[in-house]
Amino acid sequence: MKSTYKAVEVSAPGILRVVERSVPEPGVGQVRIRVEACGICHTDMFTVTGTYPGLTLPRVPGHEVVGRIDVLGSGVSRWKIGQRVGVGFLGGECGVCEPCMRGDSANCQNPVVSGVSVDGGYAEVMIAEARGIVSIPDELTSAEAAPLLCAGITTYNALRNAGLRGGDLVAIQGIGGLGHLGIQFARHMGFHTVAIGRGQEKEKLAKDLGAHIYIDAAAEDAAAALQRIGRARAILATAPSGGDAMGPLVSGLAARGKFIVVGAPPDPIQLSALPLIFGGRSVYGSLTGTPIDSEDTLAFSVLENIRPMIETVPLDQAADAYARMMQGKARFRMVLVTKDGAA
Ligand code: ZN
Ligand code: ZN
Repeated sequence: MKSTYKAVEVSAPGILRVVERSVPEPGVGQVRIRVEACGICHTDMFTVTGTYPGLTLPRVPGHEVVGRIDVLGSGVSRWKIGQRVGVGFLGGECGVCEPCMRGDSANCQNPVVSGVSVDGGYAEVMIAEARGIVSIPDELTSAEAAPLLCAGITTYNALRNAGLRGGDLVAIQGIGGLGHLGIQFARHMGFHTVAIGRGQEKEKLAKDLGAHIYIDAAAEDAAAALQRIGRARAILATAPSGGDAMGPLVSGLAARGKFIVVGAPPDPIQLSALPLIFGGRSVYGSLTGTPIDSEDTLAFSVLENIRPMIETVPLDQAADAYARMMQGKARFRMVLVTKDGAA
């Protein structure tokens, strides 16, 4: 086997370049993965721009990684060589911070973060913490499974943990990398599913993904439209831009309704106090989840035949693919594939 591998690293802020590195050995409790596919997530921006707090460069981005284990570090028992596994954003909890001690490891204060605190999946090889990896079902190709490990788990967990009941009116704001999965999960979890997008041309897509109703926020006041339909028990806000468009949607919630933020627009979300007080509505965020939550996401996707809509790109072209994602041209997830993934 070759003693080097290809990786795409951020060498300086804004610069993604292909480099050749020597193949590393996994340490105690780690595995080495031959990467087959890695999704490009909007959050990779914080690595590429060098702005993630505490980040040091060079760093290989990528936290929607699927590949096969080729070496086990010492002390690793659950996993086997040749097994297909995935790594998401949270690549291993610290186990000793207060949230970890309280069993809330998804909110670990000092986690291993793939593509941020350690090198991620824009590469042919990745070292991962064995406690942070997940098993990939045979029904999913590596390129299909990759986006489910961040965009998928983020929307799936946010919806299933919101205390909703079958038949509840649930709106998904944004029809992109996160939203196109959120609509499918909402429909298959049994919710009365509303998609909120911008432009009439998105209506057919939203309905093909499972939305019962489409609201064109470019043509009408989306909160007023929700009030007319019957008010949402939850709104999942997935758009990566337009924080100013999020706040007014709170008025479209039912009493005790929840506005759940999973998309991260750079501008502030403006909120009016009145719909929060009168009706006891709440606004909160949700961050991916644990490895077992990822396995649940994958299993539910297989069960209900939910798939991300992807465009695959060879690893060498990561810089172009990233630029297209940032320009909003990805439909809907760009996934880098290596030689092993294409084979
Ligand atoms: Zn992500
Ligand atoms: Zn912790």
